[in-house]
Amino acid sequence: MSKFLSEKYASLKEYVPGEQPQDKKYIKLNTNESPFPPSPKVLKSVNRTEVKKLRLYSDPESKALKEAIAENYGVKSENVFVSNGSDEILNFAFMAYGDKGATFADITYGFYKVFSELYGIKARIIPLKEDFSLDYKAFLKGEGLVVIANPNAQIGKSISLSEIEEILKANSENVVLIDEAYVDFGGTSALPLLEKYNNLLIVRTYSKSRSMAGARLGYAFASKDIIADLEKIKYSTNPYNVNRLTQIAGVAAVKSQKYYDKNCKKIIKNRANLVQKLTEIGFEILPSEANFILAKHPEISGEEIYLKLKERGILVRHFRDERISEFNRITIGTEKQMEALIKKLKEITEERK
Ligand SMILES: *Cc1c(COP(=O)(O)O)cnc(C)c1O
Repeated sequence: MSKFLSEKYASLKEYVPGEQPQDKKYIKLNTNESPFPPSPKVLKSVNRTEVKKLRLYSDPESKALKEAIAENYGVKSENVFVSNGSDEILNFAFMAYGDKGATFADITYGFYKVFSELYGIKARIIPLKEDFSLDYKAFLKGEGLVVIANPNAQIGKSISLSEIEEILKANSENVVLIDEAYVDFGGTSALPLLEKYNNLLIVRTYSKSRSMAGARLGYAFASKDIIADLEKIKYSTNPYNVNRLTQIAGVAAVKSQKYYDKNCKKIIKNRANLVQKLTEIGFEILPSEANFILAKHPEISGEEIYLKLKERGILVRHFRDERISEFNRITIGTEKQMEALIKKLKEITEERK
């Protein structure tokens, strides 16, 4: 830290992304990326002609992309916002709606806490229940911006549409942000509630189910007024927030719904299979509707399993949060990757016998 840094950031604890090793080739099951490439349409869309156009700024309105997303999900363009990764929408939302605090779970996406600290927002943290499900009733008395990842990050459990609706009704003076990063893997979207609730902000990403983590593309659905707030902040920070190539790839990806649906089905199938296999060799698994599972062994610590898998060329995510430190979060990959993982975990557990 330099002596020049503003005092208000001196004690800020920044977000720590999962490892992204650039040297050794790992089977990478640590940051919930898709194991599949972007769709053939996406691969074709980013061509030499488009690369040549990089000398020009991107469309600050991202008009074509917004229209394609609106059409695909049956909403109006004016109800769509697009961003440089969905983290940017979260950032804007905390900036815009955090004056009266922010309410979120103790174990969830780590960035919510970071944004609260960054903007000096008072965080009201709601512990998950004993079984790691969301204590949705506690969210009926939200303070300030109410943020729920559904399915929940790190855990994979969901709350129902009727529970979300109760939360929206009870928080009519607050914006309720539903982070649907993992919704395509079996969760329930809040999209059907969009027309009825002007305090609903749904945030989605291309990073997980659409195989485009490296392109940085997020999108949101909300009332026209909330979208206008987000646009205001966008134009005050980074008007060209979505680059040219990502806009083009984003349009092509939206038009490849069948391809991505098929991939999601594979992930769901591989998830069920992995849960079964790991249960057979003694792991405790938390049920998940996301593209990851949390797995814990009764005798071997979470950290030891993480390190031993890493030695054997497989990266998973180990969190130090007290409540889940005995677990590892494993991203669901291809069948082959899952076979390799099961083989290594068998070795590790048998070594101990
Ligand atoms: C991965 C993830 C994000 C971030 O997505 P980007 O679009 O890559 O910024 C946001 N929220 C949750 C819950 C996530 O898991």
